Amino acid sequence: MSKIYQNTIRNVVTFKGNGLHSGKNTNVKLIPAIENEGINFKRIDFNENNTIKADYKNVSSATLCTTLENKFGRKVSTVEHLLAALYICDIDNVTIEIDNEEIPILDGSSKEFINILKNAGIKKQTARKKYLKILKRIEYQDKDKKISIEPSSTFEVDFELHYNNKIIGNQRNKINFTKDNLENLIESRTFCLYEDIEKIKNIGLAQGGSLDNAIVVKDEKILNVNGLRNKKEFVNHKILDLAGDFILAGYNILGKVECYKGGHEFSNLFLREILDKNKHNFEIIEFKEKETKKISQKGYFTGLAVNA
Ligand SMILES: [Zn+2]
Repeated sequence: MSKIYQNTIRNVVTFKGNGLHSGKNTNVKLIPAIENEGINFKRIDFNENNTIKADYKNVSSATLCTTLENKFGRKVSTVEHLLAALYICDIDNVTIEIDNEEIPILDGSSKEFINILKNAGIKKQTARKKYLKILKRIEYQDKDKKISIEPSSTFEVDFELHYNNKIIGNQRNKINFTKDNLENLIESRTFCLYEDIEKIKNIGLAQGGSLDNAIVVKDEKILNVNGLRNKKEFVNHKILDLAGDFILAGYNILGKVECYKGGHEFSNLFLREILDKNKHNFEIIEFKEKETKKISQKGYFTGLAVNA
């Protein structure tokens, strides 16, 4: 796997499943894309104006999931777990054909997406990857939610969530996407409180939600028969979401993120803050072969958990 050069997938792969919010069955086809093309969704249930770029500027709604929309009003939602899987598997360029409005939720985590990408294989390309390197700390706050990013040679996330529920509580975890084992992160599922389900369904969302694709917490009990997949599954899922949302920057980010509370909408507001208002606080860089040695000695290229 190349960290200097861009990658696409080796083979076309298809999968299908139900959308978490729409409940609709959807077919998805992942197709290799040329260099510098980036990640693009294509709504094949429309004949024209149907490409939606994975770009922070195209986020039109971020209530409970991330929805992208192009200027013609074509939308695709719940993109974040697939985007996180693409980031973790180091894939820069891919076209995602979809015949409906929402990416299937599968098991509620990124695990199945990563298995699908492993099956597709990775193909190294000749153009260099572009990194967004943070040069100076940037902060953003909205009421009690806080987020910041500071310079780092890797992408790290330190996240603390806060729920008025004893089981979820104030979980906190730190993940370095280059150095840490990502198995727990990849398998961590989306979650909700039992008492919120009716409210969410009443606004037309979570129509496809079930114990097969979400952790449901009722008071001090987890309703899923097998409980949690790992001790910090709640906060790990929030970190996974954040990674998926941050790839919408269009670059792999080199920086250390600290986030207190927050979610899809907050992540998007912060990306806009960085990219639109802090141009002097980051630079876009590429790595050369010579530098790779230096970096790999520091451990920059080691420890990737997914040998896709
Ligand atoms: Zn999520």
